Amino acid sequence: MLHELTITNPATEETVTTVPATTPEQVDAAVARAAQAQRQWAARPPAERARVLRQFARTVGENTRRLARLTVTEAGHPIGNAEWEAGHVVDLLDYAAGGVERLTGRQIPVAGGVDLTFHEPLGVVAVIVPWNFPLPIAAWGLAPALAAGNAVLLKPAETTPLATLELARHALEAGVPEGLLQVLPGEGPVTGEALVTHPDVAKVVFTGSTAVGRRIAALCARQTKRLTLELGGKSPNIVFADADLEQAAATAPAAFLDNTGQDCCARSRILVQRSAYDRFMELLEPAVKAFTAGDPTDPGTRMGPLISAAHRERVRSYVPETVPAAIRGDVPDGKGYWYPATVLEARPDDRVAVEEIFGPVAVAVPFEDEADAIRLANATDYGLSGSVWTRDLGRALRVTRAVAAGNLSVNSHSSVRYTTPFGGFKHSGLGRELGPDCLAAFTETKNVFISTDA
Ligand code: NAD
Repeated sequence: MLHELTITNPATEETVTTVPATTPEQVDAAVARAAQAQRQWAARPPAERARVLRQFARTVGENTRRLARLTVTEAGHPIGNAEWEAGHVVDLLDYAAGGVERLTGRQIPVAGGVDLTFHEPLGVVAVIVPWNFPLPIAAWGLAPALAAGNAVLLKPAETTPLATLELARHALEAGVPEGLLQVLPGEGPVTGEALVTHPDVAKVVFTGSTAVGRRIAALCARQTKRLTLELGGKSPNIVFADADLEQAAATAPAAFLDNTGQDCCARSRILVQRSAYDRFMELLEPAVKAFTAGDPTDPGTRMGPLISAAHRERVRSYVPETVPAAIRGDVPDGKGYWYPATVLEARPDDRVAVEEIFGPVAVAVPFEDEADAIRLANATDYGLSGSVWTRDLGRALRVTRAVAAGNLSVNSHSSVRYTTPFGGFKHSGLGRELGPDCLAAFTETKNVFISTDA
């Protein structure tokens, strides 16, 4: 059945356009084209592949404003954020291009000969992307995968295919061979599953919800397919009484409100040492209220709408009507999938305090001491990110080592740099993206022993 995806501007509720969904038969044809392009790409000299990817980065760099505007239109991101996202793609393509000629194997001392390791490309890689950061998350997969000599079939989320379709056009303009990078819009259970189950797709990189991630892992297991999973989060922002409270409170809103809370790293559990709790909440309130929601095309806007009406209902369903919000921000009247910034004083085991909401909602919970903070921080199935605010270096190290999460920051909420590894503990994922080993994640290591005995 031929099917179309309707793309809606979440800030205006207007239909932007429709995009054809990719059928399973079209997935088959795309895999065959990709496999052929990959063989030729992998055979090209590394310096040449690096040159093509640098040109890809330059072309994207010349078009960041247009790519950012597409992200504003389809995802409702404030224009300043969307420009940063497009710039992140340029940086990552450049970084991956730099890795092509440094993807070296090893020579290992052995008896009776010489032992060599090689990093060989996997072949065709499927990258399945969510709607919350359409361009950056696409680039996390496609840039290192192409650099390591693979072809990439990218499935954007149903609601946000426009910016990645444009990115693929820039790849062609820059000299990336036809077929090597293809964007296949479509529905997860149809187009996504056709990719995941295709026998000639060697690896799946999936970013999305934990529930879908588990289903994809089960499908991949049937074919012993390589898999990276970047899943959900419910990250703590731990504030000790000895911290710079002004700074901690000034930065806490962005840590759970950026991208309207639709951020896997959102610090949506604000844990504050009891002796500083009242003071911190006093400081937090004006900071949350200053986080203005409004027209995403206005450079002064900090927070856009949620992605869809259905998602707004989901967010709403988490906020108990019986618990008054400790802090609530304002949103525009009229059209758009708006939801106000909300801080609830919840018990640590309330549903709102343990499940991922993926909206501008945080809970504030007091803790007694270091051991209590660690216990609360770890009282979740997730383990993606977290922040620790303290002036005590020993405590900062003890707590970050004790919290089971992949990306922790001290006196900061920074989680993502393309130069450092990113990924989750526990139900937040499997494997790592970005950082110095990002190309190797798209290769098989082959070991070759050469006998020197005559
Ligand atoms: P989702 O799991 O519903 O969908 C993600 C992608 O998977 C979409 O492209 C969708 O079409 C596709 N998909 C859905 N069902 C599929 C199936 N059966 N087979 C193959 N593909 C399928 O997630 P979402 O709602 O788009 O995104 C929100 C989730 O993503 C949140 O849980 C968030 O925490 C997570 N996320 C994680 C990271 C990370 O790096 N850890 C980053 C961003 C978002």
